[in-house]
Amino acid sequence: MAPAPRWTVTVDRSRCVGSAMCVGVASDRFALDGDARSAPLASPVEADERVRDAAANCPMEAIELRDATTGELIDPYA
Ligand code: SF4
Repeated sequence: MAPAPRWTVTVDRSRCVGSAMCVGVASDRFALDGDARSAPLASPVEADERVRDAAANCPMEAIELRDATTGELIDPYA
């Protein structure tokens, strides 16, 4: 059986406006730091639709997901 896909998760701090929508969607995956900027709590992570929802709903498109093995862009969509 193939291993479960894993994603690298990055947040572009220069784009993040601290809306915390990602924290609301996946509080075990993202947290705001002392500068009110989001950061992933772990990366890479097992593929998780809530992480994808967080990336899709970020108003600044600051969250990037890539396949941890191939580097393929998962979100935002190309
Ligand atoms: S949803 Fe986007 S802009 Fe809002 S805190 Fe998360 S990464 Fe930053």
